[in-house]
Amino acid sequence: MTMSNLLEVKDLSVSYGAIQALRKVSITVEEGSIVAILGSNGGGKTTLLKKISGLIEAVEGTVRFAGEDITNLSAEKIASLGIVQSPEGRQVFSDLTVEENLSIGAFTLKAKDGVSRKVRLKENLKRVYKYFPVLKERKNQVALTLSGGEQQMLAISRALMASPKLLILDEPSLGLAPLIVRDIFQIIKEFRNEGTTILIVEQNALQTLKIADYTYVLQVGEVIIEGKAEELKKDHKLVEAYLGK
Ligand code: ATP
Repeated sequence: MTMSNLLEVKDLSVSYGAIQALRKVSITVEEGSIVAILGSNGGGKTTLLKKISGLIEAVEGTVRFAGEDITNLSAEKIASLGIVQSPEGRQVFSDLTVEENLSIGAFTLKAKDGVSRKVRLKENLKRVYKYFPVLKERKNQVALTLSGGEQQMLAISRALMASPKLLILDEPSLGLAPLIVRDIFQIIKEFRNEGTTILIVEQNALQTLKIADYTYVLQVGEVIIEGKAEELKKDHKLVEAYLGK
């Protein structure tokens, strides 16, 4: 099977007034792969995600998704094309139950290939409960009462409910205990194995390099290193110099 490029960001520059947050950044996400964006604080990772999701304007450059130029489309339009971002951990609807949060995640879901929306919603619910059985056990519990790790699982699941073509994960490991991080990363790899394309932004370089196919390192707004995660992982000097422990 030949892989095609699902997302192509080319020579993207973004400024906030006098501060240039991204300088001619180019990244490619192949369909069916996990691509990671690593880098220290202030590198421009969040800015890149915001631009892909249509939340800010670019000074220069293009973003293409599934062959279509989406550089100047609205956030709503971009979401409807199938780019869905899981927010950082605790931004779930805290007064709503687990299952209500999941239903909201599916709001852009439509009937497809003769399968009704209702059936697709049910299938997606079954799928996220398979990945995260703890959410099924707690489906009637309000999100506020979930642990940090469970809330992170809910945030990721909510994004999955939309059957995204590209799932964007912003720091899924933030604030979680190492064992839970390992579990969540393992499950992210399963999403990929089942066909979901993933763009992940992380500070946890070592764990991320274990599951990513391709990695970019952003530093002060520029891609300073890129390569297959397998190869970057072996470069201990690089890992220490740019990626911390
Ligand atoms: P972190 O890992 O700390 O979240 P990051 O890699 O996501 O960092 P960004 O949040 O994209 O980095 O920020 C890149 C640069 O742009 C930083 O220097 C930041 O201070 C600046 N910046 C971000 N948002 C704004 C804004 N709204 N106004 C002015 N400067 C901003």
